[in-house]
Amino acid sequence: MKIIMKFGGTSLGSADKVRNVSKIVKDYSVNNQIILVASALSGVTNSLVRLSELVKTSNSEKIVNELEKLSELHTNISKNSIKDPNIENEVLESISSILDELKRLLEGIISLGEITPRSRDRIISFGERLSVLVVTGALKDIGINAKKFTGAEAGIVTDEEYGEANPLMSITKMKISKTLQPLLSKGIVPVVTGFMAATQTGDITTLGRGGSDFTATILGAAISADEVWICTDVNGMMTTDPKIMPNARTIPQLSYSEALEMTVFGAKALHPRALEPAQENKISVRVKNTFNLSGSDTLISNDQSIVRGKVAKSVALIKDVAMVNIGGAGMVGKPGIAAKVFDTFAREGINILMISQSVSEANISLVIRRNHLEKAVNTLEISLLGRGFVNSVNAEDDVGVIAVVGAGMQGSQGVAARVFNALAKKGINIRMIAQGSSELNISIVIKEKNCENAVKAIHEEFEMDTP
Ligand code: ADP
Ligand code: ASP
Ligand code: MG
Repeated sequence: MKIIMKFGGTSLGSADKVRNVSKIVKDYSVNNQIILVASALSGVTNSLVRLSELVKTSNSEKIVNELEKLSELHTNISKNSIKDPNIENEVLESISSILDELKRLLEGIISLGEITPRSRDRIISFGERLSVLVVTGALKDIGINAKKFTGAEAGIVTDEEYGEANPLMSITKMKISKTLQPLLSKGIVPVVTGFMAATQTGDITTLGRGGSDFTATILGAAISADEVWICTDVNGMMTTDPKIMPNARTIPQLSYSEALEMTVFGAKALHPRALEPAQENKISVRVKNTFNLSGSDTLISNDQSIVRGKVAKSVALIKDVAMVNIGGAGMVGKPGIAAKVFDTFAREGINILMISQSVSEANISLVIRRNHLEKAVNTLEISLLGRGFVNSVNAEDDVGVIAVVGAGMQGSQGVAARVFNALAKKGINIRMIAQGSSELNISIVIKEKNCENAVKAIHEEFEMDTP
């Protein structure tokens, strides 16, 4: 089989974990052709994001501190996962030269006094550049013929949407089939940086947080892989986040649209956009546990015969959101208010996660990411207030979204009532409700402090812990 194996930061957090990954690749490469996609080591992208904030304040002490921690982490993991002194030295030298490059980049940005989305992408792409050095070294150390590539070297070309770049699939497919495909038949294991790619002119871009999953399915589509494995630290896509509900259960099979619905609504184990190239090219995606590869997992595929199962299959919690309410008696029967809101948000780059409008039309509620709240309220006040129809724009920033997902909800009655009852029994008040016309999900907004209890109540109501 041709398999893309993507290992997330959670699978690469220590020398033991890196050794575990190399052993997996060694075992599977005997009978399969493998391309490995590596994320940054656990915590590294967050540290780079902090650095991209610190350059704005020019706080050199904190910058030096972060850089030292990055150096220590990569050096220690390399030393403890690679035995051959020649390979180890080579990796350590490369790590220090890449970190020097990062330091020079940060100094350059500080002296310019401005960080752009383009330079931010360059900074946060260093995590994957460093991790492939360590992983490739560890693979070579146990006799695997591994060769490292950046996303751009492998052939992933994107547009210039820095921070959330979109692959240009035709050119990308052509390039990847030329760079990686020939290596596979020679028994070489390409190790590709997840998350980072480049524009047509060679500027580094990133695919959005968690985007290594997207890299894996882009490569899978390009080489017509039999399967793309997303290897993480839990047994596949589960009925809810096992960190909230320890008795969460693995969902063995999902259609692309159900999986998409789950990931859009907070199932972090897979990046939502990763499903695009997979669905388009009918590539199966398996979400597996790196630490329990033979344990239960989730297969996401085009199989139409997927058992529908329970009406509600999973429940997710989306944190760090805020609700904006726009009200005014003058909004009734006045066309174009919603359009104005969407237009204002689009111009400011504010993504809307949920919308609901009452039948009376006197109120529109929207859910957005919390870090966009101030900008959202400011721009709405400027564009809507004082014109006679809208007289209030207010916000709640202590809320969360609970999303209940399942294809069995389509056309089945009473699901919403069961969700509301389950919450009412726990005394949890619902602030806003939305159901997509796909009927694959119901989303509700509640106070943040009640979120975990709400997830548990819904998980229990629909008996998600049993098949
Ligand atoms: P990686 O570093 O492997 O990319 P992530 O942290 O991005 O890992 O995603 C894995 C995490 O997603 C799990 O540890 C789990 O806590 C979380 N998660 C949230 N919802 C779900 C769900 N429904 N099923 C499985 N995992 C989930
Ligand atoms: N390292 C990147 C992140 O933390 C990409 C990924 O993990 O998939 O967002
Ligand atoms: Mg991830």
